[in-house]
Amino acid sequence: MIAETLRDRIRSGGPMSIAAFMTEALFDPSHGFYATKDPIGAGADFITAPEISQMFGELIGLVAAQTWLDMGRPDGVKLIEMGPGRGTMMADALRAARAVPGFIEAAEIVLIEASAALKAVQAQTLGPTGAQIRWVDRLEAVAPGPSIILGNEFLDCLPVRQAVRHKGTWHERLVGLDPEAEAESGFVFVLGPPLGEDLALVPERLREAGDGALVELRPGDRQVVDQLAARFAAHPGRALFIDYGPATSEIGDTLQAIRAHKKQPPLLDPGTADLTARVDFESLVLAARSAGLTAYGPEPQGAWLLGLGLETRAAALSQAQPGKRSQIARQIWRLTDQEQMGELFKLVCLDGGDLPIPPGFSAG
Ligand code: SAH
Repeated sequence: MIAETLRDRIRSGGPMSIAAFMTEALFDPSHGFYATKDPIGAGADFITAPEISQMFGELIGLVAAQTWLDMGRPDGVKLIEMGPGRGTMMADALRAARAVPGFIEAAEIVLIEASAALKAVQAQTLGPTGAQIRWVDRLEAVAPGPSIILGNEFLDCLPVRQAVRHKGTWHERLVGLDPEAEAESGFVFVLGPPLGEDLALVPERLREAGDGALVELRPGDRQVVDQLAARFAAHPGRALFIDYGPATSEIGDTLQAIRAHKKQPPLLDPGTADLTARVDFESLVLAARSAGLTAYGPEPQGAWLLGLGLETRAAALSQAQPGKRSQIARQIWRLTDQEQMGELFKLVCLDGGDLPIPPGFSAG
């Protein structure tokens, strides 16, 4: 059990960072939340946009194909998806992208996936497309060349760190053990050492926040940005990330655990629930720009999808299957309504700066 392993680690090595706790809880190869099962779908733990409607992946596929046209139709372009889940978005994207002659034939599909269980589901979903697919475990393992990179709800599960302002200094927030609470897992948040050099990870605008303020640091986002910058400096490339979080950096604890569509305390029973935290789009865009990338967005998901013609696609689908009209209308509502996914979910597009403005975005 992961809880026992983590308790042993804390007993022998002292409190651990939230990022380390999250990594074990999600990706421990034998008991991690993602390693062992397929958590995505109405009957499982959480649901995502591509699982709500085929239209989501279709529009993403058309944007990918347009990007290929804008690149000058390079042969061997890598179409990379980070964290493809059940493979649904890629399957819908490939189907729609057939509308652009030559794209599918030119594309090499690469999936970056940490979970063995989900790889198997992806192979099943994408088998019928006939596409040649390769799996790798990280972006650096993809051969150089022009690339189009997609990631839906990938950044939110990259491990986060948290920092708390205490007596005028930012300290790391760690996970320790409270022997009194051993019965209910025993994990508690404790104040760790001052951040030191990592203070640079605290958004500048928030650094003077009052005592007790908590910020989340996303070293994983920066790592991804640096990898993209290196890749796109050598060859044309564009990445599109869709995720949830505020447009501007905020104070506050957003670490959450979701199991069977319900929240549970984040430190309770690691490995049994999805652990995520909101993406800080402002810091992501700033990090991208300082790494030399051009960044567009964040653009709210609802406005972006509607701007790209979601309703036109829905009308065509409803005409083809009149019995599904109300189901399709509900899908639009879930993807675009402000109280649903329309506002909290956002898109960011990062590229090397040598391509036209991406579909649905305004100047970067
Ligand atoms: N994009 C899918 C799945 C989202 S869940 C959808 O929208 O339905 C997050 C996905 O990212 C899962 O497939 C998970 O296994 C994968 N993942 C998370 N962190 C990862 C990492 N560091 N490396 C590779 N895959 C990762």
